[in-house]
Parts: sequence; C-alpha cells; structure tokens
Amino acid sequence: MRIVLVGPPGAGKGTQAAFLAKNLSIPHISTGDLFRANISQQTELGKLAKSYMDAGNLVPDEVTIGMAKDRMAQADAENGFLLDGFPRNVSQAEALDEALKADGQKLDAVLDLEVPEDEVVKRIAGRRICRNDSSHVFHVTYSPPKQQDVCDVCGGELYQRGDDKEETVRKRLDVYHRETEPIIDHYKAQGLVVTISALGKVDEVTQRAMSALQGESA
Ligand code: AMP
Repeated sequence: MRIVLVGPPGAGKGTQAAFLAKNLSIPHISTGDLFRANISQQTELGKLAKSYMDAGNLVPDEVTIGMAKDRMAQADAENGFLLDGFPRNVSQAEALDEALKADGQKLDAVLDLEVPEDEVVKRIAGRRICRNDSSHVFHVTYSPPKQQDVCDVCGGELYQRGDDKEETVRKRLDVYHRETEPIIDHYKAQGLVVTISALGKVDEVTQRAMSALQGESA
C-alpha cells in the first residue's frame, strides 16, 4: 500500500506510522526524521534544514521534494510506503502525484489523524524521544519511561526536540493550518481521505487506523 499520514504536530503521526508500517510491512518514510538524520551527520542539507526547523517553518520545497523522492526510489519502497510528514503543502502533494503517475503508481489512502488543538499542545510539550531511534517516543505524563530520560526499548537517552518548545509548537500549528491542511481537500477531491480520531491509547488508535485502511483496500 502507498499511504500518506496527515495530522497536526502532536497527533501521534510518528508513533502511529512506526506501528502501521510494521503491521503493513512497508517502510516508514518521515521527512522530519530524514532531516534530523542529516542534522546529526552535519551534512549541508542538514545545516540548511536546521534553520527552518528551529523556527518552526517548512524547509523549502526544492530541497524537500528531491530528498523525499530519493528515499521513495529506494528498493524497500518499491511495493509501498507510509509517508509521514510529506507532503506538507499543496505543491509537494502535486509533485508526489506527478512522481507516482510517472511510475504508473498511485496512492491508496490518505489517513488524517484528528486531534483537538489544546490536546496537541499538551502532547508535544511532554514528548520525549530517543536519541538512537525517533520512533521510540515517550511522554512525561501519558507514557513515561520506566527510568526518567532513558528509553525503555534500547536504553538510549531521551530528549525534547528543539522544535517541541511551546513557542515553536504554536508556530508549527499555524504553519499546519495554513500550508498543510489544504492538502486534505486536494486528496478529498481524489476520494482518498480517511479521517480517524487520534484520541485514546496508542494501540487503540493503531487499531482504528488499521480498520480504516483495511476498509480502503477492501
Ligand atoms: P516532523 O518531524 O514531521 O514534525 O518535522 C519536523 C520539521 O521538519 C518540520 O517542522 C519542518 O520544519 C521540517 N519538515 C518535515 N517534513 C517537511 C516537509 N515535507 N516539508 C517541509 N518541511 C518539512
């Protein structure tokens, strides 16, 4: 399956994407993770991306689209993928449509994770992620690690993303409403959007998402 995951920052996209990709045996492709990997390897792309990310802005399309396409062209994504954080505006969505069309492919579904705005801010402010693997996500209140600041899965150090600070979160929400939400209408016009509530326990949301996606592929 070829799936796009959308939802505001804090909807749990990264967490859900990791579980869904595993259940569906497709790679989880997160442009945010690709940028963060570039930042920790101090590549030129990483240096450029960091300035935009720290301000809560989108990294320019010229950079982002090329990076996402390169990742999708890798062998493990040949039979499907789950995109998390891409596309993030209408021109990225159009570029993705064109790239898929050129390969005779199409998306199967766009899964829209819905969550109220006050919940988003609470979720992000308490989020801690693992330095070794950003799919190991914890929350100081909702899913605390057994030992403070230590990942239960691999023992890695947990940290708060620089762009998870409250002021940047508000900026990211703003950017989400202005730039990203319009892609939902873009995909609604193609009959691809499935909306589910992202409230509740992580495994409940995964279950809800799996049922919604199975409905789409049936
Ligand atoms: P995420 O991990 O998906 O929340 O992304 C973190 C940050 O990376 C975003 O706030 C943007 O600055 C940048 N980013 C991730 N994906 C994209 C994208 N598709 N287009 C532009 N910027 C992106």
